[in-house]
Amino acid sequence: MASTAPQTFVQFPTTKLHAQSLIDGVWTTGPMVHEISSPYNGEVLGSLSPCSVVEVDRAVSAADKAFRDWRAVPRKERSSLLLQFRTLLLRDIDKLAHSAARECGKLVVEARAEVLKAIEVLEFAVGLQDSDIGGAMDVSRGVRCEYIREPIGVTVGITPFNFPAMVPMWMIPIALAVGNSFILKPSDKVPFTPCVLGELIIEAGFPKGVFSILQGGRDRVEALSDHPRVAAIGFVGSSPIAKSVYGRATSQGKRALCLGGAKNHLIVVPDADRRVASDGIVASFTGCAGQRCMAGSVLVAVGDCEDIIKDVAQTASQIVLGRDMGALIDKAARERLSSAIEQAQRDGSTVLLDGRKVPPPHGYQGGNWLAPTILDHAKSSMECACRELFGPVLSIVRVKTLDEALALERASSFGNATSIFTTNGAVARYVADNATSGMIGVNIGVPVPREPFSFGGTKESKYGTGDITGDGGVEFWSNRKKVTTKWALQSDKNWMS
Ligand code: NAD
Repeated sequence: MASTAPQTFVQFPTTKLHAQSLIDGVWTTGPMVHEISSPYNGEVLGSLSPCSVVEVDRAVSAADKAFRDWRAVPRKERSSLLLQFRTLLLRDIDKLAHSAARECGKLVVEARAEVLKAIEVLEFAVGLQDSDIGGAMDVSRGVRCEYIREPIGVTVGITPFNFPAMVPMWMIPIALAVGNSFILKPSDKVPFTPCVLGELIIEAGFPKGVFSILQGGRDRVEALSDHPRVAAIGFVGSSPIAKSVYGRATSQGKRALCLGGAKNHLIVVPDADRRVASDGIVASFTGCAGQRCMAGSVLVAVGDCEDIIKDVAQTASQIVLGRDMGALIDKAARERLSSAIEQAQRDGSTVLLDGRKVPPPHGYQGGNWLAPTILDHAKSSMECACRELFGPVLSIVRVKTLDEALALERASSFGNATSIFTTNGAVARYVADNATSGMIGVNIGVPVPREPFSFGGTKESKYGTGDITGDGGVEFWSNRKKVTTKWALQSDKNWMS
């Protein structure tokens, strides 16, 4: 295995960055500052100034005030601002991609893909002006019922480190399109890319206070969850925190949809196409250095799949750090993964490919690097096969039948994604019908639905009902008001009169 210098892929800033909060249309900085380091080389990229809890209240008040006017802006006018935002995102796609890559450690090409997905959600939100036109019907003589889609008020999005552009954009365009004001509390590990989004939203011409950013960590999340004028919280992050934010917000009468972690199963059967399966499996567990909630991390080999396993190990061993795979978010992640690999060895699995032995790219020793690692002969009860590790580590569990594979998938506490690799349509259908995850892939290792198909898992991968994008997002960020009207003067009275 080789490694190469990633600077040919990621532009580092010439001056130090400083991430501020955006409150009432003004960038504000707090007294405290903490440094943000590059996952690539450990060098300080810039600093973050978390907002105070008092500023949380100021941001909510400004968002509440802005909401009153914004909700009255016709949807077509709101959409034209979103379209302008789209133009700016496309103009600055390289800037956004480099920003996301350098602060969370992924490759620029991966970061660019996340910006494109962000734009896709925005396009869906703009399309609502033509598709989400309510409904109306004469339900009785002279009586008409209609739906009116209404915003719900000040809405909040709390987002994780691994997609600094895309995950906020799962929420922002839909929440704004339906007429809410929106406060983003980005991960305190990746505060810079959300600021670029904020700058573009200002440039697009959105009224002040309609979109805000609050920088910081746990205290701000709790203050937002407790604030009486926050109507809804969308959260994406790890399961324990998703569960706690969901409980805190809903116990205070708020609407909440909290997406959590994952342990995704890649089921492979002997009739799978060798190349399709091995490429798909490797791309799934190594893409974004395994730091994706859709990353496959358990390969369930049904029967004799030795050739495919050999190809998986061979393909993964060719991955060049810095060229084909980025870095882990921080040193803690690197240490957590190393100890998980050691634990798996103690539990009895064998290390088929050891990413710990691969040196960092030349000149990037200060970064957080781990090459693809494969743990073979894992058992479904082992931690490596059931706990979310969130890195480029694949555990292989061998079973005899497809039903055993599905039983293992069903027993998982997570339910984000499950994939099947096969050339048999009946097998594919059987898995799609019987797997418990919210997103199923057939010969695809990362089955992220494209808009308008909505994104969301099951079990501990999601607390709350509905999905975060597509029509699920529209329902989550709005109310349907039902208006029943009678104007006609009737002689024949009925039960609705
Ligand atoms: P995280 O749970 O540590 O952080 C998520 C957000 O919560 C951040 O904004 C963070 O500042 C905030 N936070 C952290 N600790 C908190 C606390 N104690 N109380 C309240 N808020 C707190 O997640 P992460 O490490 O940034 O991201 C990785 C995780 O996110 C993985 O588990 C991954 O599977 C998950 N994820 C899930 C999806 C999905 O769609 N289901 C998508 C992306 C990431």
